[in-house]
Amino acid sequence: MPSYVNVEKCDGCKGLDRTACQYICPNDLMILNNDTQKAYNQEVEQCWECYNCVKICPQQAVEVRAYQDFAPLGANVIPLRGTDAIMWTIMFRNGTMKRFKFPIRTTPEGSTTNLYDGKPEGNKDDLKKPGFFNGGLKEE
Ligand code: SF4
Ligand code: SF4
Repeated sequence: MPSYVNVEKCDGCKGLDRTACQYICPNDLMILNNDTQKAYNQEVEQCWECYNCVKICPQQAVEVRAYQDFAPLGANVIPLRGTDAIMWTIMFRNGTMKRFKFPIRTTPEGSTTNLYDGKPEGNKDDLKKPGFFNGGLKEE
């Protein structure tokens, strides 16, 4: 089920060259209406439902109508992104509301991590050994 923009919450990402949802969408679906300064999903049938726009929106203005197995028709899903976790609010059509909090990182926001810290140096000769997928590659 595709994402949609709650126009009451969307502020058009004022001050940015490009809106956050435009920046993050892997399928270039989000677009800003220059007259209203509100974003919208221009081609909902092409939406991959990756929820990137949902998670990045600083105003929590992008919502999704979730799969019926966990949120029946008429319900929706609203994220609240923090620095180390996302709180998902699930609104059921009978009025029930449930919240789930998931951690999204283990290091301070803004910090970078060297994934190779503590790992042994790579050895290109290993690529020639049998069993390596790219073993047949030649060095330039
Ligand atoms: S990221 Fe959110 S606030 Fe910014 S333009 Fe998109 S929907 Fe609006
Ligand atoms: S859910 Fe993913 S594919 Fe769909 S509009 Fe948002 S970022 Fe694009």
